[in-house]
Amino acid sequence: MVSFIKSCTIAGVDTEIIRVECDLSRGMPVLNMVGLPDAAVRESRDRLRAAILNSGLDFPVNRRITINLSPAGTRKEGTHLDLPIALSLLAGAGNVPAEKMEDYAVIGELSLDGRVEAVPQALPMCIGLKQKGVKKIILPKENLKNVSVVEEVDLYPVETLREACDFITGEAVIAPVQGKRPPSAFDSPDSEMDFSEVLGREEAKRAIEISVSGFHHLLFTGPPGCGKSMMAKRIPTVMPGMTYEEMLEVTKLYSLCGMEPEEGGLISRRPFRAPAGNVSSAAMVGGGAGIPRPGEITLAHLGTLFLDEMPEMRRDVLEALRQPLEDEKITISRSQSKITYPSKFMLVGARNPCPCGYFGDPNRRCTCSMQQIRRYQERLSGPIMDRFDIFVDLAAIDYDSPEWMQSAGSPCRSSAAMREKIEGARALQEERYIKEEIRYNSQLQGRLLRKYCRLEGAAKEVYDLGCRQLKVSLRGRDKLLKVSRTIADLEGKDEIGAEHVAEALQYRRRDEERDDYQ
Ligand SMILES: [Zn+2]
Repeated sequence: MVSFIKSCTIAGVDTEIIRVECDLSRGMPVLNMVGLPDAAVRESRDRLRAAILNSGLDFPVNRRITINLSPAGTRKEGTHLDLPIALSLLAGAGNVPAEKMEDYAVIGELSLDGRVEAVPQALPMCIGLKQKGVKKIILPKENLKNVSVVEEVDLYPVETLREACDFITGEAVIAPVQGKRPPSAFDSPDSEMDFSEVLGREEAKRAIEISVSGFHHLLFTGPPGCGKSMMAKRIPTVMPGMTYEEMLEVTKLYSLCGMEPEEGGLISRRPFRAPAGNVSSAAMVGGGAGIPRPGEITLAHLGTLFLDEMPEMRRDVLEALRQPLEDEKITISRSQSKITYPSKFMLVGARNPCPCGYFGDPNRRCTCSMQQIRRYQERLSGPIMDRFDIFVDLAAIDYDSPEWMQSAGSPCRSSAAMREKIEGARALQEERYIKEEIRYNSQLQGRLLRKYCRLEGAAKEVYDLGCRQLKVSLRGRDKLLKVSRTIADLEGKDEIGAEHVAEALQYRRRDEERDDYQ
């Protein structure tokens, strides 16, 4: 008699449905497990017998038991297969009617006494099962709180193997808990920080406003102490809220890394990651021994990746960013498998103008040689520089200057005021791209770029003149158009005007652009 119970396994960020089949035949009493189980799954063999007997259920005697996990080619990992394996075995022995289980998927670890224990990564599994069309899930009661945010799924929490059996045989009733999306509210980030504390620097705040609105990559250049990281750290306070789907996606990724919120529920703030300067390339883009782990670029997905002192970072780490910046995802290849993690983040970089930090400073003397400066600047290679859309040079603050006195005395824009404008520009993009594959102006390219960034009259003249004078590269020209589009959106304008292009030109590189890297 053959029977099967549905469960799942995690492969990268995806969930794959697993069928647990059990075959009992006469013969030597052995239990075999086939279908690429990992060590944790194989060990369930030992727990199985004790858990079944301690639950007061019959373990088949004098039977040759074969547990088959299919599809055969998929590696099965984790202790969450204990419960489906036990149920499959009981079904094979005729104790549990497996045909009643067709609509259900089952996850849960078993202890020797037959209790069902919580499993890691229950949330990504449930999200994945729902995406595969499963509407009913039997799961450990302890995992219920974390996964009840997955809507349109009926969750059947169980505490023991016995309870699960009784439910399937119809001897007991379990009232399902319906997953619900949590009420969406803007989760106000760390209230101790606000852009209103950043005096002066209106130009930099404006650049951040544009970057966040269109998800454009931004590079700050300026001497130490000019406020680069002070501003970067306040970016979360102006980030727009996330949609339910985005929250699920981010929470799923964090859960895969064992970083889901302790109090349960969904992560509702956009991530902000600021890895240390000596971060390895595996930690940055993902990798490591065994199953490749997601890196910082994936933890920053749909949020911000802030890299301070970029030229000080390892060359291989910086170069490893090139592809994911282009593709918005990273594929890590191993001899046996390939895993793709999403990595759509806004890159905010910061650098000093030279090794000592004071090149171009009116008040302090730079002690570097021209060669040192050139070498330092070249640490950010052409292709990496080409990925930035917005360049901002921050001068040192001269606290005695009349300009500073004046700007310090005038009211500063707050995070709330900036966010309101940003949400407006975001809404326009959501509406415009509703039928397209993209969501942000920074994603425009090819046909869509030509369709949505058409320039006419004066705007075209400013664009042509600016490109010629600043020697803007081909790639840079596209970026110029996208940033102009975002500036027009911030003004609520359909058409890109000359003033929008003129402002966007201010955020191009001051130094001569190089031509066309790959
Ligand atoms: Zn210097």
